Amino acid sequence: MSAASPLIFAVPKGRILDEALPVMARAGVVPEAAFHDKNDRALSFASEDRATQIIRVRAFDVATFVAFGAAQAGIVGSDVIEEFDYSELYAPVDLGIGQCRLSVAQPKDSAEYLPGNASHLRVATKYPSLAKRWFARQGIQAECVKLNGAMELAPALGLSMRIVDLVSTGRTLKDNGLVETDTIMQVTSRLIVNRAALKTDPRVAALVERFRTEAVVLAA
Ligand code: ADP
Ligand code: MG
Repeated sequence: MSAASPLIFAVPKGRILDEALPVMARAGVVPEAAFHDKNDRALSFASEDRATQIIRVRAFDVATFVAFGAAQAGIVGSDVIEEFDYSELYAPVDLGIGQCRLSVAQPKDSAEYLPGNASHLRVATKYPSLAKRWFARQGIQAECVKLNGAMELAPALGLSMRIVDLVSTGRTLKDNGLVETDTIMQVTSRLIVNRAALKTDPRVAALVERFRTEAVVLAA
């Protein structure tokens, strides 16, 4: 890539964006004003210094754009990084934002599911790969059904006995009559970069360094 073309930086359009923007600003990545215009339908924006192009995509797609080198860097939750397990993704900086956990939950009154039980365990989740791996480690062969949201509905409607979903306060689970039984992983958002771009483009290494030294405010 020529030095003249801007670096592409991918950010998730959803809930971590508000926390990500101040972190990006400390690292010198500030989107142009149009980025904050709710009526603007553009998906790609210049940075104030024009050195970076900022694309706004779904959280899972941030990882995909960066893994394939279509974007050189981005910000995404460790849940997404682990679910895809792309070899071309490198996650050098924990930004400490977007804290939550990936957990297993079940209806309040349902029986314990034991490994070796002959009956089938179906799990509704946005994270089929992580869920399958976790249940396999417990000796349970789970059939993971991919949903993109509202996992909490699945048990009551007979779609699955368990769900695997992100939890922060636990309020959504509680409101849907579910209890958290296990934590699969703790989640925070990371700076991610494309490995090949990191090796070949010195601007990517410089960006990583700026996030490492300036962006992360260590908890007091
Ligand atoms: P999308 O709907 O495009 O998948 P979201 O806006 O829901 O994206 O963002 C989801 C990301 O936000 C997750 O991948 C996770 O890293 C982070 N996150 C932090 N806290 C929560 C939470 N309580 N629930 C869901 N996602 C959370
Ligand atoms: Mg969402």
